[in-house]
Amino acid sequence: MSKIRLYMLQSGTQICKTRNIKMNQGDDRDYEIPIPWFLLLHPKGNVVIDGGLAAEGLADPRSYWGGAVDSYQPVMSDDQGCIKQLMMLGLTPEDIRFVVLSHLHSDHTGAIGRFPRATHVVQRREYEYAFTPDWFAAGAYTRADFDRPGLQWQFLEGAATDNYDLYGDGTLRMVSTPGHTLGHQSFLVTLPKSGSILLAADAVYTLDHWRETALPGFLASAVDTVRSVRKLRYLAEQLGATLVPGHDPEVWPGFKLAPSYYD
Ligand SMILES: [Zn+2]
Repeated sequence: MSKIRLYMLQSGTQICKTRNIKMNQGDDRDYEIPIPWFLLLHPKGNVVIDGGLAAEGLADPRSYWGGAVDSYQPVMSDDQGCIKQLMMLGLTPEDIRFVVLSHLHSDHTGAIGRFPRATHVVQRREYEYAFTPDWFAAGAYTRADFDRPGLQWQFLEGAATDNYDLYGDGTLRMVSTPGHTLGHQSFLVTLPKSGSILLAADAVYTLDHWRETALPGFLASAVDTVRSVRKLRYLAEQLGATLVPGHDPEVWPGFKLAPSYYD
């Protein structure tokens, strides 16, 4: 039996509007999106990917996340925080060796600083931008999540670290996919039985972006966004990879969610 497993987890949902996800589309009705995150068990050390929303924010969402909660209302219970969900799977915070981050928007930073032995892997450009965002992007970053003393960081930078292979065995590669943010990255997970699974994160919110029928409602660069989707499509076609979009409410429930897993 393989010791490599990928778990797909979810820290609740957020309620927004269709136009927040699909640019210039939809009416004023609510659109509820899943907040996925992932756990990779690996013999060389376990990895949390993103970690969803921080459970600490639930006590007073407005003071923790600011005015962003008006546009993206969290629907989450305390039990859906990443630490409690890992405990349900029999893991302790000490069991996590890496926290790898697609980007630093607050629905992806719930794991930072929660695992005392973890090194946090992020694109340097994303980390720097998170401290100095432009006005339109500032609400998406919650500094309390990533501006913490004593964290171990590993920064990926430039073309040399595109396709960075965390363990050198091809199990987890990081694919640079800027556009949604300046330093966004997606993840290519390759498993012994299940094959290649492409965790696009916010490079592909929904299949509308994948199929090029809508731009996302939030982006830093439209040109980089569509080119990153093309890059992922070529990759998925070459490898026959399964795409996991970042926030697709129709596609997400079709995956095997934890406690089931892919191996
Ligand atoms: Zn995002």
